[in-house]
Amino acid sequence: MAPEATPQSIETRLFINGEVRAFTIFISKVSTTYQNHGVSMSKLSEATEKDVDQAVAAAKSAQPAWANLTVEQRGSYFKKFAKLIRESNDELATLEAISMGFPKSRYFHAMACAGTFDHYSEAGYDMQGTTSLNTPGFVSMTLRQPYGVVAAIIPWNVPLIMLANKIAPALAVGNTVVLKSSEKAPLTSCKIASLVKEAGFPPGVFNILSGHGHISGAALSSHMEVRALSFTGSTRTGRVIQQAAAQSNLKVIFLELGGKSPVCIFEDADLEVAADDTQHSIQGNSGQTCMATTRVYVQDTVAEKFIGLFKSKFEAVTIGDPLHPGTNHGPQADKVQYDNVLRYIEMGKKEGTLALGGSTVEGDGYFIRPTIFTNTPEDARTMKEEIFGPVVHINTFSTEEEVMEKANNTEYGLYASVYTKDINRALKFAKGLEAGTVGVNCTSPTQGRDMPFGGWKGSGIGREGMPLYTMSNFLEMKTVVVKVGF
Ligand code: ADP
Repeated sequence: MAPEATPQSIETRLFINGEVRAFTIFISKVSTTYQNHGVSMSKLSEATEKDVDQAVAAAKSAQPAWANLTVEQRGSYFKKFAKLIRESNDELATLEAISMGFPKSRYFHAMACAGTFDHYSEAGYDMQGTTSLNTPGFVSMTLRQPYGVVAAIIPWNVPLIMLANKIAPALAVGNTVVLKSSEKAPLTSCKIASLVKEAGFPPGVFNILSGHGHISGAALSSHMEVRALSFTGSTRTGRVIQQAAAQSNLKVIFLELGGKSPVCIFEDADLEVAADDTQHSIQGNSGQTCMATTRVYVQDTVAEKFIGLFKSKFEAVTIGDPLHPGTNHGPQADKVQYDNVLRYIEMGKKEGTLALGGSTVEGDGYFIRPTIFTNTPEDARTMKEEIFGPVVHINTFSTEEEVMEKANNTEYGLYASVYTKDINRALKFAKGLEAGTVGVNCTSPTQGRDMPFGGWKGSGIGREGMPLYTMSNFLEMKTVVVKVGF
């Protein structure tokens, strides 16, 4: 069945200063994710350094007037924008399925994105400075002021959620923004650009670029007029961005990077629930989630039972066309991702025991079957590196000390979990696990809607998600001392 939305039906040029711009170079194909559904892929704009300069200049000149609006005035654009996003939900779901293979039946990103803009439409008043009379003869205060131009570089796995988490708080407190979408999933951001225009945002406030990271992403990271940058993506690219920031203007950066999330399952846990949650965590988005549970540690006394439950749930997926309503397991986002996951699977077969999957699916599309490895040594590469596919390692343990040590033996620290009915043990692990989020009797993607999200160790710098915290990320602080003589 032909989808209603196609890459040809939307504007795919750069969105700078409230207008679409003619593109400079073409990307010949958006994606080759899933080739047999009859949709030919679109050509996209490639933002050059010059385009980045123009977008930043537009954002810079729009910023003072935007910051001078009232919270309600800025919020009114957010409300219109959120409504338009909701109305476009179906089209956005189709575009994401075409772009990176996210199953349409599970698509929630646009609604979550709209909800975030709705929330931030009224949140601006929550940001205030402080006052002090503690210095005799002075009234002292702090002012919170926008940075000016904020850049956002988003990944391809959940593009609109990342877009909202970065852009809404940055705009709400008076910054203007330049967003760069991922070359692997640019279509929903292109559609969003048309909704930004329709919502009536003043020109230059919200600019949207597409293109490759080493061109426009690098230009944003090292731009002298970009004062803060929020990035979600791989740890490798996070390091490059941090270097570029340090070597240019020391812009403030927020990095949400990779993970290798452990879950510790004790014999007293509800194994059925634990198996259900953990397989859902790694299966969702075909394992292409930074916080996915990739290392499962189960107590040896219940290992056989748990692995049986996990297997039966994990293999019961419907693999196929992401546009089909029955599909819940789509392809990997592109050939690079696909090849990379297959390389790790081959490595895993040598390092441990293949207990499920480990193969592709016949026909077109980059499909990989849910895959389990057991008995893999802790120092094996596949236990250490992020695979970003539907691949999980299940190992066993016997004591609390042993599993705590294994769970924390990683350079990552995004999400970790414990399943147990013992409250003391649960809290011991909540304290002891080295991660930005710890789930007790739940695992990723479970999050508190108003809780900060981000990584310890190599999983990142800073937090997003918690409204006050995130808006604070995008505000400078100034101390004002007023000599009053009393
Ligand atoms: P992946 O390899 O899975 O695509 P990346 O971390 O490379 O993950 O991509 C996430 C985002 O970072 C994308 O928008 C990409 O274009 C961008 N990016 C890639 N390389 C760079 C770079 N050198 N500088 C800035 N952004 C980059």
